[in-house]
Amino acid sequence: MKSPSIVVCGTGLVGLASALGLARAGLRPCLLGPRQAPAPAVPEHYHPRVYAVSPPAQRFLHELGAWGLLDTRRLTAVEGMQVYGDAGGSVELRAWQRMLPALAWIAESSEIERALYQALQVFGVDWVEDRFERLVQGGLITSSGRELKTPLVIGADGANSAVRQAAGITQTERDYRQMGLVTHLSAALPHGGMARQWFVDGEIVALLPMPDTAQGHQVSMVWSMETSRAQTVLAMPEQARADHVQRLLAAVTADCLGPLTVRGEVLGFALTVAQSSMVAPGVALVGDAAHRVHPLAGQGLNLGLGDVEHLLRVLVEKPALASPGDETVLRRYRRARAEPVWAMRMATDGLHRLFSTDLPPVVLGRNLGMSLVNRLPWVKQRLIAAASNN
Ligand SMILES: Cc1cc2nc3c(=O)[nH]c(=O)nc-3n(C[C@H](O)[C@H](O)[C@H](O)COP(=O)(O)OP(=O)(O)OC[C@H]3O[C@@H](n4cnc5c(N)ncnc54)[C@H](O)[C@@H]3O)c2cc1C
Repeated sequence: MKSPSIVVCGTGLVGLASALGLARAGLRPCLLGPRQAPAPAVPEHYHPRVYAVSPPAQRFLHELGAWGLLDTRRLTAVEGMQVYGDAGGSVELRAWQRMLPALAWIAESSEIERALYQALQVFGVDWVEDRFERLVQGGLITSSGRELKTPLVIGADGANSAVRQAAGITQTERDYRQMGLVTHLSAALPHGGMARQWFVDGEIVALLPMPDTAQGHQVSMVWSMETSRAQTVLAMPEQARADHVQRLLAAVTADCLGPLTVRGEVLGFALTVAQSSMVAPGVALVGDAAHRVHPLAGQGLNLGLGDVEHLLRVLVEKPALASPGDETVLRRYRRARAEPVWAMRMATDGLHRLFSTDLPPVVLGRNLGMSLVNRLPWVKQRLIAAASNN
C-alpha cells in the first residue's frame, strides 16, 4: 500500500521548492494551494519582485534542478557592494576579495517560480488547487471540505500562515513601521555589478544591479521607508509618484548612477520581524510562515530555502520506522535552523536599530566604524562571508 503523501501547504517559492525537494528525494509530496503558472518572460519587461539569491541558496536551487532552467540573460551577478552611512562613513565589499564569483545573483521572482514549475512537472507532483483550512487527526481539511491524510503538514503558507495558527505554534512579531517600496529604474551610468545601499534618517535605500535594457542601464530599488511616507508615495498619481521618487533618489544617491528614471510599477510591502518555534507534532513550518527578517540584507527567501534544505535532510536521514511527523524527527529540524535564523535576525535587526537612532555619539561611532572597517581587510573578509552567506 502506498504511504500517504507529505502535504506542502502554500505554493510560493518556498512551498514549490519544498515539493520539488521531496519529490527528488522520493518522498511523495502533494502541493496544496493556488496554481497559476507564471506568464512567459517578455524581453525588456522585468518582474517587479527580484531577489538577491545567496551562493548557498543558488547551490540548493541548482541541486533541485531549477537553477539551470533560468535564463542567464535575466540574471545579474552582484560582484560587489557599497554601503554608505549617514555621516560620511562607507564600506566597499568585493566578491573577489574572498575569491567568490559573486556575492549573490539578482533573479526575478517569476523566473525562479517558472523554473520550479517546470522542474515539478518533470516529477508529476500531485497538486490540490484549494486552500488549507484546519488540521485534523492524521491530516487536514481544505477550504472545500476535502480531507487529505498525511503524517506531515509542511506550512509554507507565508507570513499569515493558517497552518501555524491551526497547529498552535506561537510567534513573536514586531512591526518595523516601515514599508519596502520596490520598483525598477533606468540609470544613466552603468552599475558595474555593484549593489549599493544608503542608510538615511532611519530609512534604507538599496539599488540592486539588473540587466541593461533598450532604455539604458537598469537597477532595482528597495526603499525601506517609514509607513506613512510610503503610503503617501503609493497614493500619488503615477507620473507624480515617479517624479517624486526620482527627486528623492537624486538627493540620496548624489547622482552616483546619474539621473534615475522609474521604469515600472511601484509596489509596497509591510516590513515585520517575526520568529516562531517552527514545529509541532505532524507540522513543520518553512519560509515566511516560520520567520521573517528585515529585507535590508535580502535574506528572507534565502533563509526559507535553507529551511527546506535542512528539513529534507532530516526527513531523508530519519530512522526508517519513524514517521516524518514524529516530534523527535521535527525537533532535529528545529535545532538545525535555530542558529542560522537567530543569527540573521540579530544581524538585520541590529543593523536596523543601529541606524534608527539619531543620537550624535551613535551617528559618529557608526560612521567612523564603517570607515575603519573599510581599511581592515580581515574584517572585510568576514563581512563578505556574512553578506554572501558563505
Ligand atoms: C521588499 C522586500 C524585499 C525582499 N528581498 C529579498 C531578497 O533580495 N532576497 C531574499 O532572499 N528575500 C527577500 N525578501 C523576502 C522574501 O520576499 C520572502 O522571504 C519570501 O518571498 C517568502 O516566500 P514564502 O514562499 O515563504 O512565502 P510567500 O511568498 O508569502 O508564499 C506563501 C504562499 O502560500 C499561499 N497560501 C497562503 N495561505 C494559504 C492557505 N490557507 N492554503 C494554501 N496556500 C496558502 C499563498 O497563496 C502563497 O502562494 C524580501 C522581502 C521584501 C518585503
